[in-house]
Amino acid sequence: MDTLQSLKKWLPEMIDIRRTIHRYPELGFEEFNTRNMVVEKLKEYGVEQIDTDFAETGVVAVIPGSLGAGKTLGLRADMDALPIQEENEFFHRSCKAGTMHACGHDGHTTMLLYAAKFLAEHRTFKGKAVLIFQPAEEGVGGAESMIQDGVLEKYPLDACYALHNMPGIPEGHFAFKGGAIMASSDRFFVEIVGKSGHAGLPHNTLDPLLVATQIYQGIQALVSRMHSPFEPLVVSVTQLHCGETNNAIAEKARMSGTIRTLSQTVRNKLIEQLENLVNNTANAYGLRAKLSLGAISHPATVNSTLEVNLAINAANSVVGTENVNGECEALLASEDFSYFLEKIPGCYGFVGNGHKSTEEGNLIGLHHKKYDFNDEILPVGAAYFVSLMMQNE
Ligand SMILES: [Zn+2]
Ligand SMILES: [Zn+2]
Repeated sequence: MDTLQSLKKWLPEMIDIRRTIHRYPELGFEEFNTRNMVVEKLKEYGVEQIDTDFAETGVVAVIPGSLGAGKTLGLRADMDALPIQEENEFFHRSCKAGTMHACGHDGHTTMLLYAAKFLAEHRTFKGKAVLIFQPAEEGVGGAESMIQDGVLEKYPLDACYALHNMPGIPEGHFAFKGGAIMASSDRFFVEIVGKSGHAGLPHNTLDPLLVATQIYQGIQALVSRMHSPFEPLVVSVTQLHCGETNNAIAEKARMSGTIRTLSQTVRNKLIEQLENLVNNTANAYGLRAKLSLGAISHPATVNSTLEVNLAINAANSVVGTENVNGECEALLASEDFSYFLEKIPGCYGFVGNGHKSTEEGNLIGLHHKKYDFNDEILPVGAAYFVSLMMQNE
């Protein structure tokens, strides 16, 4: 509990930094001012090794311990905001129209900065902390970019950790889970090409709308009839565009949607089945169809057993075992920290943001126009990262 108490002394300055980032949000790969502030603060805290060579606006900072050899741990925070118009009215609301820190990455950045401040001041740990301030988590490829730019070759990690705040979990409580904790996410697009013509003479046309609706039905059957109910899988068709008028059959139909699952095997199987469904349904009626996947997809976020246990120990030492859930439910949202976990063992977990709700009593969740990071958990998150280092072997 000592670490937490020491960090709490810095709460006023932590709040100041967190709210400043909140007021001036920046979208993925545009976090130049946030990046500059992170670098400036790290220098002020006495961190000697700072590297800005990754993913446009990424920052890596290395803090070696003074107790000799030990593992090198990656501690990661994301820095980007979302293209959402904020509806809060407090002073630190976004100054930038249409851009908002609605996912709490302002808080994540601040928690990691204060872990850096504490670790730079108290180097009583083994091994090395590699702090990763990552841009562009919100579906625009920040983690992939950092990895492509060679962050893991330049700074080989034994394990890596990240924390996301979560509305609905009590303030300052922790939640972890071994195995997959967040889903894979793939966007898919289907284009069906037929032959347009008079709606009164359908036999002279090839109707893409008919094929689109059959594919739509087929997708429901794939999920319910061809996959085990014990393996979470969601396929949602979210768009269908076809036709311009009531008396002509269109030439093309376009559909798109999203696939979420916790297992790479299920993901691969579903994609293969979807491709067969699309091609064979179109063929059956003499049309052509093509399935394509979005450029940006995320694998499932899969925690490794040893690192989950170490994460639970670290959280226990900060808030006590009664406030740490080691077996939370997985979420079918996705997270690009999954790319780090594909390469190295580690643990992604949640820290409770509390239960703030709207006037109607609905929980204000992530990506909500009235969301705000809960400042009270800043020292708790920072203390968790510090504890991971203090227990490092
Ligand atoms: Zn988000
Ligand atoms: Zn987020």
